[in-house]
Amino acid sequence: MTIRLYFDDAYLTHWTTRVKDKLEREDGLYVVLEESAFYPHGGGQPNDTGRMNGIPVLDVISEGDEVLHKVERLPDEDEVRCNIDWDRRFDHMQQHSGQHLLSAVCLKHGAMTLSFHLGEDYCTIDVDWTDLPAEQLAAIELEANRHIYMNHKISGYFVTEAEASRLPLVKPPKAVDRIRIVEMEGVEYNGCGGTHVAATGAIGMVKLLKTEKQKGHVRIFFKCGYRALQEFQEQQQVLGAVTVRLKTSRDGILERLDKWEDEQKQRQTELDVLKEALDEITVGQLLAEQEGGRIARIFADKPLKDLQNLAQKLTGQCDAAVLLATEAELKVVLAHSGRHPVACGAFFKEHLAAYGGKGGGSDKLAQAGFGSWDEAHAFYEFAKHALS
Ligand SMILES: [Zn+2]
Repeated sequence: MTIRLYFDDAYLTHWTTRVKDKLEREDGLYVVLEESAFYPHGGGQPNDTGRMNGIPVLDVISEGDEVLHKVERLPDEDEVRCNIDWDRRFDHMQQHSGQHLLSAVCLKHGAMTLSFHLGEDYCTIDVDWTDLPAEQLAAIELEANRHIYMNHKISGYFVTEAEASRLPLVKPPKAVDRIRIVEMEGVEYNGCGGTHVAATGAIGMVKLLKTEKQKGHVRIFFKCGYRALQEFQEQQQVLGAVTVRLKTSRDGILERLDKWEDEQKQRQTELDVLKEALDEITVGQLLAEQEGGRIARIFADKPLKDLQNLAQKLTGQCDAAVLLATEAELKVVLAHSGRHPVACGAFFKEHLAAYGGKGGGSDKLAQAGFGSWDEAHAFYEFAKHALS
């Protein structure tokens, strides 16, 4: 049985111990130690990493009574000096203690925590609510942080099943004989094998980021401690950049955006009027250019949508086959009023492949896209001659 040092002292980072066993398995090399402060995956908390006589410890798993350390190579010595990556561990402690506190506050508001995820980027808990209004979320966040500022002591210890039955535990414990309790003084007793900060003050802050509805319950995304600080710093950077770009203060951003949206709408209206006028002129020109029952024109920079609009206007005023191409979008459109013998979609389907184009359509309207202007242009020229 590996003596798990993290149970007694979550702040222990360096120790010396003896190697009990070395295992060469298909998926890697493992070392079993007499005593270990390396935390293995479990209870939602990820494993520790660190070094053993300078050798990187890549993963830590729990197997029965033993803790297995996956290492880059096996140590030659029987005695090893170990150290854990403290930044990683302390981060996990802040998130895990923060989760206990947050879950305790949610429970006070009426919902059990169903699951906990401690990820690289963010943490989540799924709580037994179908909906969580923004005001209640804000109240929970405030209350959790109030408990942080009150700096309640957090302690971990083992009890027997009989002793555990007398404690107001959040959930019935999974273990039977030695049950580990994590007590947040005045807040809760929780059956948990994880590592925790010594007092709620060390959680630093619980920042709730957003909620999502998940199959009948609510998922709360949150960050604690340094992660919350980093989140604040990143948001501040974005906000700072936005205020500089919009030439306003933080309080002026929304007003500036409203104004900008209004201006955009106004510009769009003006643009639509101008486009309409330009289309009238273009339609007039194209109708005059009609030759042998077809109208054909290449546009340098019109989007496909504008080509379709033009085609619709032209086919409303004449029975010619209308062939339009746009160099900007490598598209070709063919349309007519319905009184032209060529079926547009079938014509495209029959000839497109030879020009590397893809597309199709109905008898009265077809469109195609191409990989290059050379291909689009070659198809346009072919169609122009075929239609005359
Ligand atoms: Zn826990």
